[in-house]
Amino acid sequence: MALAILMLSCNYEGSRPKLAEKSDTKSKKPLNIILLIGDGMGLSQLSSSFYFKVGHPNFARFKTIGLINVTSANLKITDSAAGATSFASGIKTYNGAIGVDMNKEPIENIVELLSKENYQTGLIATSSITHATPAAFYAHVASRDWEEQIAEQMSSSPIDFFAGGGLKFFQNRQDGKNMLKLLENKGFDIHTDSLVQKIDKSKRHGFILGEEDMPKMIEGRGDFLMKSTQIALSYFEDNNSPFFLMVEGSQIDWAGHDNEADYLITELLDFDQMLGSVLDYAEKEGNTLVVVTADHETGGFTLSGKITGQNSKGEHEHDYNVIVPTFSTTGHSAALIPVLAFGPQSSQFSGFYQNSDIYNKIRIALDK
Ligand code: MG
Ligand code: ZN
Repeated sequence: MALAILMLSCNYEGSRPKLAEKSDTKSKKPLNIILLIGDGMGLSQLSSSFYFKVGHPNFARFKTIGLINVTSANLKITDSAAGATSFASGIKTYNGAIGVDMNKEPIENIVELLSKENYQTGLIATSSITHATPAAFYAHVASRDWEEQIAEQMSSSPIDFFAGGGLKFFQNRQDGKNMLKLLENKGFDIHTDSLVQKIDKSKRHGFILGEEDMPKMIEGRGDFLMKSTQIALSYFEDNNSPFFLMVEGSQIDWAGHDNEADYLITELLDFDQMLGSVLDYAEKEGNTLVVVTADHETGGFTLSGKITGQNSKGEHEHDYNVIVPTFSTTGHSAALIPVLAFGPQSSQFSGFYQNSDIYNKIRIALDK
C-alpha cells in the first residue's frame, strides 16, 4: 500500500467531542487498569495516525498527556526488556533484564502484586508471548534471550489470560519439556488454532497462535489485537473481580528496526484501532484507568516534507504538503516518550517523569 502518497487533511481538531470523563476522576480510585504499550512508539509514530488514518485517530481522544524519560540503569538508550521491567516492577535495570534488578535478583511485578489482591490479570502481544515486553510481566530471568525459561515461568505465574505467538517455546523445545501440558495442569485452556469468542469463564486461557511471532498486519494478521483484547475484557467482566490487562503492539518496534514505513504505519493504525475499543469500554464503565505509552522510540522516525529539489545554495527544497516518512537509525533512540491516560486518577500521569514512575503512579492511583 502506498502510504507515502496518501494525503489526508489534518482536520480532526474540533470536529469530534473529546472523550467524556466523569467529573469525579480526580478523587475516585479506578477498579481496573489497562496498560497499552506500543513498542518503539515515539511521538512521530503516534503522529502518523493523524496523517495516515482515514478517520479520527483514537489517540486524539485523550486529555491527559505526559512525557517519560526512558533511559535504563546502565545505558542512555534502553531496550524493550529494561523498559518493560521499569513499567512492570518500578525499577530501572540493565538492558536485557526481564523482571530482575541490577544484581539479577527477581523483583515483584504489578501482576504478582495485584493478583494477591484478587485481581484477574492478562497479557496480549503481537509478538511471541515470551518476547521481552510481555515477559517482564510474568517472568524473572537474567536475559531476554532465554525464551524457553520465560515460557516455563508462565506456568508458575498468576496470569489468567494471555494471547500472542510463541508456540515453539512451549512445545518441541530443546529441553524436550511440554509446557502446554503443564499449563493445562494449572487450569489453562490452551487454544492454538484461532481466537474463540465464547470461552469457559471458570478456566484460565492461553491463545498461542503462531510458532514464534504473530504475522505482520501487511501479511494478514487481521484484527487479532482488537479481538483478543475484547475477549479478555468480556472474560474479566464476567468473572466479576477487578483486572489488570497489558496489551502490546509489539511490531511497531520491528518496523522501525526494518526502516519500513508501510509496515510501521499499518502496525500503528492497528494499535489505534485496539485503543478505540479500549476507550469505548473505559468510557462506558467509568471505573477503568487506561494508560498508553511506549518503552522507547525505534528508527529515529520522522514525518518529513518531500524533497523536491535544491536551491542555488545547495539546500533542499520541500513540498510541505507531502509527508515522506524517514528514518535515521535501525536501532532505538533516546527521545522522550508520550504517555496518554484516561479514567479515574488519570491526572497522575501528566508532566515529566521516569519510565519506572508508570508503575509507581499505577500504585498511587489504586492506593496500593
Ligand atoms: Mg516488545
Ligand atoms: Zn527494538
